[in-house]
Amino acid sequence: MVEVLTYEKFDTDPFKDLDINDETKGAYQIIKWAYEHYGDSIVYSCSFGAEGMILIDLISKVKADAKIVFLDTDLHFQETYELIDRVKERYPSLNIELKKPDLTLEQQADQYEPALWTSDPNQCCYIRKIKPLEEVLSGATAWVSGLRREQSLSRQDTDFINKDERFKSIKVCPLIHWTWDDVWNYINKHDLTYNTLHDFQYPSIGCIPCTSQVTSNDDSRDGRWTNFNKTECGLHTPNNKPK
Ligand code: SF4
Repeated sequence: MVEVLTYEKFDTDPFKDLDINDETKGAYQIIKWAYEHYGDSIVYSCSFGAEGMILIDLISKVKADAKIVFLDTDLHFQETYELIDRVKERYPSLNIELKKPDLTLEQQADQYEPALWTSDPNQCCYIRKIKPLEEVLSGATAWVSGLRREQSLSRQDTDFINKDERFKSIKVCPLIHWTWDDVWNYINKHDLTYNTLHDFQYPSIGCIPCTSQVTSNDDSRDGRWTNFNKTECGLHTPNNKPK
């Protein structure tokens, strides 16, 4: 019997030397291994961005009823909810769950302030994204993320298989070697659906208050939290719990 690779047992990425000279740059092999290895104890936390369309497509080939969670902050664009509906139609067997925060927007406004995302976006992300993901991952051994190394300096050391200190879990990142061009080449080649906002200069799409149109598509993370010194919601940084 194969011993399951858990957070406690993790030492180093077992796929450091994986041959990545295939169409998916190793992503399909990693996904296949991850779902065979973790079974029902792996969750994909999907933001339904461009990378998400690829992971959903590859995951569906390996595990048709895989669990996919969208952190529904109640602040997403209508186009994002429409995309989720299209994905559900295209992959009807997938188990897609919209996970809500404990606090409604009204309760958050009462306990903090009406537009917490302008005064304290870290606290807002904690309430509406991080805590819900903590709850989701409390019942899982591993989770899948669409991080790519070229996205930022903080992501350039990401491996296929990572020890996730933030959520005390194993984080599986199949797309680490993909470029932004690779992402769109795959989407076009396989005729995948995607968020229509991408066609209107929104390379990275999150909550409405924290997402902006950009003037060029040079950086796939441009357009997020443009009014703040913030580039991450906190799901991929280890010490981010607000006071
Ligand atoms: Fe709040 Fe903005 Fe974070 Fe969404 S991205 S949870 S609106 S701070």
